[in-house]
Amino acid sequence: MLDLAIIGGGPAGLTAGLYATRGGLKNVVMYEKGLPGGAITQSSEVENYPGYCEPVSGMELMECWPKQAMRFGLKHHMNEVKRVSQNSDKTFTIELLDGNKELAKSVIVATGSTPKKAGFEGEEEFFGRGVSTCATCDGFFYKDKEVAVIGGGDTALEEALYLANIASKVYLIHRRDTFRAAPSTIERVLKNPKIELILNARVKKVYGDETGVKGIIIEQDGKEIDLKVPGVFVFVGMNVNNQVLKQEDGTFLCSVNKYGEVIVDLKMRTDVKGLFAAGDIRMEAAKQVVCAAGDGAVAAISAIEYVDKLEEIV
Ligand code: FAD
Ligand code: NAP
Repeated sequence: MLDLAIIGGGPAGLTAGLYATRGGLKNVVMYEKGLPGGAITQSSEVENYPGYCEPVSGMELMECWPKQAMRFGLKHHMNEVKRVSQNSDKTFTIELLDGNKELAKSVIVATGSTPKKAGFEGEEEFFGRGVSTCATCDGFFYKDKEVAVIGGGDTALEEALYLANIASKVYLIHRRDTFRAAPSTIERVLKNPKIELILNARVKKVYGDETGVKGIIIEQDGKEIDLKVPGVFVFVGMNVNNQVLKQEDGTFLCSVNKYGEVIVDLKMRTDVKGLFAAGDIRMEAAKQVVCAAGDGAVAAISAIEYVDKLEEIV
């Protein structure tokens, strides 16, 4: 039986693995369906991870994380986890997509979240080269330049306001003429002189060359508009990767909020003892590498405490 199973090998899962093994847990496996590193490996430039004087690529940033964690005994199993469930003796069963099963005394879920795609031409081709889903990460590259933001929810409007502090102009493109965002956020957007609304508009395509995005073509009232912007930010919703917590009857193993994010306390404990969540999957996550890593460390420390006291608890 594993002391700890970690699901996901991004910044949260890898840091959890480092802290759990270095903190004394003996049998710790991190299930990561791909190569460890997580979502940040899609980013060409990261300049907000503390300790780096110069920007690094996401790949470079994450290069040593698995090696460092494995030095203390963390094992990586390249498997996709299908489901985590709890048994009557309070242990957990980790069900893998290949049909195998493993038992664990404790579990940290760190499966992250995935930005939704809007589905226009060029979105995939230019992703990471002008098309972005992270204003905190990439906004600064467009200092004093014009950018386009797509979406009409809280994220799009909040990020449009954030980008308006950096860019010379923000075109906010939405497919309807009313927004889903909170009224106070809408009011701030409407009052911001750097944000121009393009409503009832559909993105036709993003175009560019080998250096990146050069512009975006939008359809509005049967006419095409060509905006020559180097940056396009897509905020059309997030999918939290919470599928592993879904039970056979469709309920979640632990409580999640209305967005499907796992509800945790400050120790990253869910409302199921021995089950922890860390990183982008948890409620109110800042969705940053440094925060996910911090969560992973906290979750591991909590898991060590739980496993140490297990006989008293169960
Ligand atoms: P993730 O990094 O998403 O890792 C989750 C891992 O779990 C993935 O590797 C996935 O393969 C694995 N997984 C999921 N489901 C399963 C399963 N069922 N079984 C096994 N494995 C599974 N943040 C910054 O701080 N600075 C930046 O500059 C920055 N730029 C970004 C640029 C881009 C393009 C993107 C997409 C994100 C960026 N972010 C940035 C955000 C940052 O990447 C995330 O906040 C961070 O990676 C979250 O870490 P995590 O460990 O919670 O999740
Ligand atoms: P969201 O509320 O689902 O909004 C997504 C937006 O993108 C909608 O305006 C939608 O248009 C648009 N959209 C969806 N698919 C599209 C497509 N293919 N092409 C063009 N536009 C598309 O997502 P979100 O803004 O990420 O927010 C997610 C949840 O988190 C929401 O419940 C939100 O309230 C919450 N949130 C809260 C806060 C906060 O409280 N401060 C901050 C951020 C997020 P339609 O409106 O036409 O459907």
